[in-house]
Amino acid sequence: MERLAPPLLDLAFWTAALTAIIAARYLAVCWIAHALIWGGKDAPAGRRLNRDPPRAAAIRHELVLSLVSSPIYALPAAIAFEAWRAGGTAVYLDVGRYGIAWLFVSAALYLLIQDAYYYWLHRLLHGRWLFRHAHAGHHRSRQPTAFASFAFDWPEAALNAWLLPALVFLIPIHPAVILALLLVATVAAVLNHAGAEVLPPWWTEGPLGAWLISAGHHSLHHTRYDKNFGLYFRLWDKLMGTDMAPQHSPTDPLIPA
Ligand SMILES: [Zn+2]
Ligand SMILES: [Zn+2]
Repeated sequence: MERLAPPLLDLAFWTAALTAIIAARYLAVCWIAHALIWGGKDAPAGRRLNRDPPRAAAIRHELVLSLVSSPIYALPAAIAFEAWRAGGTAVYLDVGRYGIAWLFVSAALYLLIQDAYYYWLHRLLHGRWLFRHAHAGHHRSRQPTAFASFAFDWPEAALNAWLLPALVFLIPIHPAVILALLLVATVAAVLNHAGAEVLPPWWTEGPLGAWLISAGHHSLHHTRYDKNFGLYFRLWDKLMGTDMAPQHSPTDPLIPA
């Protein structure tokens, strides 16, 4: 039997390892968030967005899609990791090389690029053919839970997963910033799908909420497919006329009973 070349073995190893890390992160964070929000006597914690409590069947569907997404996100990350070990990316370890300010500028750049990419990809995914084949899985959660935060059909996962690993070849970034970005992505996705608005009114009703996406904002996308396509910021939605202000009413007539 022909032996796999060592680089391919390394890639397979890191893809498997990152799959395990991504899936474990998903299960741990979502379980904790879900338990905190829906597990108490006065559930949900925060302002209610879903008419009904989460259903086990919906969570099972979200779990399956998310676990399938894990290796799809792991493969491009493993490729970038292998390339970094070979010295072929723009990842740098010495903070002094670009200065402290670049840590923040690079983080902002990555967030803005991810946000713009996701907005336009998301608009395309709502085309009839692509929706059916690549985005319907995420939208089966009309009343999403934290477990929907990573629940994508595999083509949507593939269209998303390559962006960050590709950017690390182009825009210098420190590993600490990469970790911070992954943390922001996870927390934002979990909170925006939690089924309750845990952020306080001074946030959602104030200047922060005017520009940052929250659960009240993204929940509307799950019921009114033509509004609120953004990922982190309301900028593109506002520019393109697809923004709808968050509503915190479980009696939204479009939420199925
Ligand atoms: Zn959508
Ligand atoms: Zn969503």
